[in-house]
Amino acid sequence: MSREIQLQVRDMARSFSNENIRPIAQELDESEKFPHELYLQMGELGLFGICVPEDEGGPGFDTVTYALVMEELSRGYASVADQCGLIELITTLLVRHGTPQQKIEILSDVMSAKKLVAYCISEAEAGTDVSGIRTSATKCDGGWILNGFKFWIHIDAVAYQGFV
Ligand SMILES: Cc1cc2nc3c(=O)[nH]c(=O)nc-3n(C[C@H](O)[C@H](O)[C@H](O)COP(=O)(O)OP(=O)(O)OC[C@H]3O[C@@H](n4cnc5c(N)ncnc54)[C@H](O)[C@@H]3O)c2cc1C
Repeated sequence: MSREIQLQVRDMARSFSNENIRPIAQELDESEKFPHELYLQMGELGLFGICVPEDEGGPGFDTVTYALVMEELSRGYASVADQCGLIELITTLLVRHGTPQQKIEILSDVMSAKKLVAYCISEAEAGTDVSGIRTSATKCDGGWILNGFKFWIHIDAVAYQGFV
């Protein structure tokens, strides 16, 4: 990835952050509102799933570009940057480990923020040490029974609603 492209993407993220995120940061902090409209806009601009390869429907940028975007979004409002980080994490896993069907059904909707998803690892006794996870998933007729408690899950309160 050329330095020129990295800086172009950084400048685009900087402008977006200055014009659309910083002005509403205080309001978001006070109201604890979930800014879905903002995320839809970011999805359209390609600010989610930054490292998803082009042949998987993403922009195919590198990790340095992702870090530059995260810096700019964080200057606007840290929680919005966390949303970008969350989607990067989930799309990276989908690209590496998802089935072809999961990629078709989920990947582009996650990148556009039409589908809201959460990454549910942390538990009271399992943060850094993921091998300490106690939650179980047991197959049953028509799905799975999940049994356990999670902590610190970004957008958990809205993600379970799925499509908005
Ligand atoms: C804003 C925010 C959003 C989050 N969102 C999510 C989310 O969406 N989904 C999710 O699953 N989790 C989420 N988390 C949880 C986050 O992933 C955990 O906080 C993180 O994994 C650390 O776990 P812990 O807080 O239990 O700290 P601990 O695991 O108890 O670690 C405490 C400290 O000990 C250090 N440490 C731990 N083990 C070792 C070791 N073996 N060697 C050396 N040092 C060690 C750690 O580096 C850290 O400094 C979020 C956390 C925050 C703050």
